[in-house]
Amino acid sequence: MISENDFTLAVHLPEAPAAAPRPMAPPLVRSTSYVFSSTAENVELRSGQRAGYVYARLDNPTADAFAQAVASLEAGGRPDLGGQAFNSGMAAITSVMLAFTGSGGHVVAPVELYGGTYSLLAHLLRRFGVRTDFVDMSDLDAVAAVVDEKTDILYAETLANPTLSVANLPELASIAKRAGAMFVVDSTFATPFICRPLAYGADLVVHSGTKYIGGHSDVTGGVVIGGRNLLERVRQVRIDTGTVLAPDDAYMLRRGLHTLPLRMERHCASALAVASELVDHPMISRVHYPGLSDHGTHAVAKALFATDRFGGIVSLTVRGGVAAGVALTDSFRTVSLATSLGGTSTVAQHVASSTHRQLDDEALAAAGIDGGTVRLSIGLEDPGDILADITRALDELRRDHS
Ligand SMILES: *Cc1c(COP(=O)(O)O)cnc(C)c1O
Repeated sequence: MISENDFTLAVHLPEAPAAAPRPMAPPLVRSTSYVFSSTAENVELRSGQRAGYVYARLDNPTADAFAQAVASLEAGGRPDLGGQAFNSGMAAITSVMLAFTGSGGHVVAPVELYGGTYSLLAHLLRRFGVRTDFVDMSDLDAVAAVVDEKTDILYAETLANPTLSVANLPELASIAKRAGAMFVVDSTFATPFICRPLAYGADLVVHSGTKYIGGHSDVTGGVVIGGRNLLERVRQVRIDTGTVLAPDDAYMLRRGLHTLPLRMERHCASALAVASELVDHPMISRVHYPGLSDHGTHAVAKALFATDRFGGIVSLTVRGGVAAGVALTDSFRTVSLATSLGGTSTVAQHVASSTHRQLDDEALAAAGIDGGTVRLSIGLEDPGDILADITRALDELRRDHS
């Protein structure tokens, strides 16, 4: 007892009891600071001579627990690989870019790229002297033609939005390796349940945890997985920019991992059922789903993805262009009209009005996107109910058109 004073007592409450036996759920550590036993310990921790925590913006144990958990799923038992957690997917991607390219640097990225990443490369990093070539990643000759010894990063997405084109990861990895570039893969749409890009030669894998990993549309976060030496540079950017994952969000994201395989299994099975059923509907001109044999990258998906796992996103192209796409999306009932993906509910977005709204008709066509394309993130409802809602909406559209 250091004092009987009310104020001092209130500040110096007794320490929480040790959690023994081991709690089933992990601790959530909100503390911003850590009490050092001596100045020497403080110095050792700060210099990295001793492992431990100093200040919550640098690292926090709950964020690390989450990142290590994703690493265990993504890198299965390789001790040389770890993870670092961020407060969003974009923070993770930005930190990777800032760690490995800079003024005078060169990045090669897909034309069909997540909008936030496109904006980062085309606008922000361009202002800081980073040049990006946007290429069709399915055209390996085109990729090889722009990746050279000046290239810092070859960047790909396992599954592209909205065509669900599957990146040929081993081929892209060898193009990067030949030029001495880093190969970074955004695997948000795939998750480690479907594909593990590190096994195909990726140097780093990034995820938006906001999507399937969190899985319930209620938490934002990101993570980078890869070799510990590379990650240390990414972590340093995170420290400088202050984008570590908050403990509460880390707790939620780690909890999401327990049911990730269970949810993904259902997302994949329902998406395949919906895609297969809709190909024959008279209002549909095209169903984009890599699990269908007519998809342009079906063979790549078969080669790289776990058996019968093709993801939970399906894009439909309805006949009638923009007007038909909008009418379809607006008439869904079970399916919600909402942004984002990977949650429990099936959600739809008219592509040309949402994620690709900056593109005019010509640019949409160049990107291979029809005005009638609607992206669906298939949720965990009964697949029959999802299909019934979509089929009813399509039948109504057909009636209005005839
Ligand atoms: C959502 C998303 C991101 C960005 O993640 P945030 O958590 O929203 O910052 C990056 N890449 C892909 C493929 C995404 O779907």
